[in-house]
Formats: sequence, structure tokens, C-alpha cells
Amino acid sequence: MPETGAGMMAGKTVLVMGIANRWSLAYAIAQALARQGVELVLTYQGERVKRAVEDLGAEWHGTRVYPCDVSQDASVAEFFERLGADLAAAGRRALDGVVHSIAFANKEDLERPLADTSRAGFALALDVSAYSLVAVARYAAPLMTEGGAIVTLTYLGATRVVTNYNVMGVAKAALEAEVRYLASELGPQGIRVNAISAGPIKTASARAIKDFSSILDHVAQRAPLRRVTDPAEVGDTAAFLLSDAGRGVTGDVIFVDSGYHILGV
Ligand code: NAD
Repeated sequence: MPETGAGMMAGKTVLVMGIANRWSLAYAIAQALARQGVELVLTYQGERVKRAVEDLGAEWHGTRVYPCDVSQDASVAEFFERLGADLAAAGRRALDGVVHSIAFANKEDLERPLADTSRAGFALALDVSAYSLVAVARYAAPLMTEGGAIVTLTYLGATRVVTNYNVMGVAKAALEAEVRYLASELGPQGIRVNAISAGPIKTASARAIKDFSSILDHVAQRAPLRRVTDPAEVGDTAAFLLSDAGRGVTGDVIFVDSGYHILGV
């Protein structure tokens, strides 16, 4: 039986990519992991959010914070090289988990019909929101010498038509397919790969989606649990997937959305 309760993941090292501020889902995940005794590694996208992420990281003892822009191969390569060297220098045996909580599309591309998406806008959304998981998995796997888990964040718009989600729905469909292929490829090394499909939550990224508040209202009225998703619920599910308690789950998409996805008409 796996250990349960506080400190279930004590001694593990998990990389969390995608904190921009305290509303980020990655922050809620980091909080849940810190409660389980995880030693955290955080990355931030650029100078604009550096200070905020460093301040948030300072809440947890021993947190390492690095820059990493996933749209730049050199930035990803340099980050993982530094991380590998720093973990080795600190005598950490391995990286045990990775949280990929990153997405981006031009606001205009979220507002226009998919049919009007430009080639460049499509490429950007798919590059940052989907290809980045491939690149991260490629560099992270060699550091996960004792196995572990990778978790990414997706949304119902990957498989259903959600108003104003448009090109991001296509990016999430690609991301969910990647989860299955990566799970198959990395499974023999003891590395599990899963996605959490979160219900709508008010974050900086969500605000780019037109009429987001009306989506929140709709979910609160219709979802089986009659409320919107709490970021802490996403955090706890990520902690489960990254811990030994989730050891039998890979290649899957787990919904944390108050049950909204089960509804038909
Ligand atoms: P957020 O804006 O707080 O997080 C998005 C993160 O992506 C930011 O930290 C940003 O810096 C990072 N990012 C963007 N481009 C990057 C780049 N080039 N390099 C590195 N980092 C980059 O918003 P969030 O809602 O917490 O989003 C996190 C994940 O959750 C995303 O994948 C999003 O699609 C997914 N998600 C969100 C919701 C929701 O309703 N908020 C629902 C389902 C899934």
C-alpha cells in the first residue's frame, strides 16, 4: 500500500512549469505538492514574471527557480542542463515529476472563427501549447532516472466544441494525443504521462477567452456539483497523479470539472 496523508511525497523533487501569478493553476498544484513534502523546482517564462514567481517560490523552503521559455529550443535545453547539474551538485538522486501548465494563443485568434485563424497564429498556439510538452518530456525523461510522472493541463474544448475556444481546442486535442504517445513511449522507463482536464477557472489565460464569465455561470448552474472548479481540486488531483498513489494510471485524461463533461443536453 502506498503511504497516505501528509508527507506522502516527502523527498521527491518535482518541476512545476507555468506559474505566472498566484491565480495560476500551476501555483495551486505547487501548493498541493508542497503540502506533501515535495521539493519544488519552478520555471517562469520571462523577466516580466520573474520577481512574482521568485516571491511565490520563497513560500516553500528549498525551492529552485529558473527561467525557461518553451518557445525557444535554446532556453529549454539550457534550463534542463542547469537543472541536471544543480540536482547532481545538491546530491538529489533524480527528478521525480514534471507539471506542464503552459498554453498561449493570440487573443485575436481566440476571438475569430477557427476557419479564419492565420497560419502564424495556428503555429504559435500549437507550438507553445502542444509542442512544448514534447520538448519538455524529451529533456526531462533522462533526469527521471527512477521513473516518475508528467502531468499536463487540458480542457474539454479538445474534444467538444466550446464557444470562443477555437484554435486552443485544436492545440489541446494535439496535447491529449501527445499524452497517449508519450505514455506509451516512456512507460517502459517507469514514467507515466497524464492530463488533467480542468473546468473553467478565472486565471490570466482564461481572461483571454471572450465571455469567459458567462461560461463560468453556465457551469455553476449546470455541472453535477453545481459549482465551478476550485484550483485546489486541480492541485490535489495533480498531487495524486504525481504520487505513488497514482502509480497505475498513465496515458489518461482525468476530468476535474465538477462533473460538467458528463452532460449531454
Ligand atoms: P496562467 O496564465 O496562469 O498560466 C499559463 C502559463 O503559461 C503562464 O505561467 C505563462 O507564463 C505560461 N507560458 C505561456 N507561454 C509560455 C512560454 N513561451 N514559455 C513558458 N511559459 C509560457 O493560466 P492557467 O489557467 O493557470 O493555465 C495553465 C494551464 O491550464 C494551461 O495549459 C491552460 O490551457 C490550462 N487550463 C486552464 C483552464 C482555466 O479555465 N483556467 C481550464 C483548463 C485548462
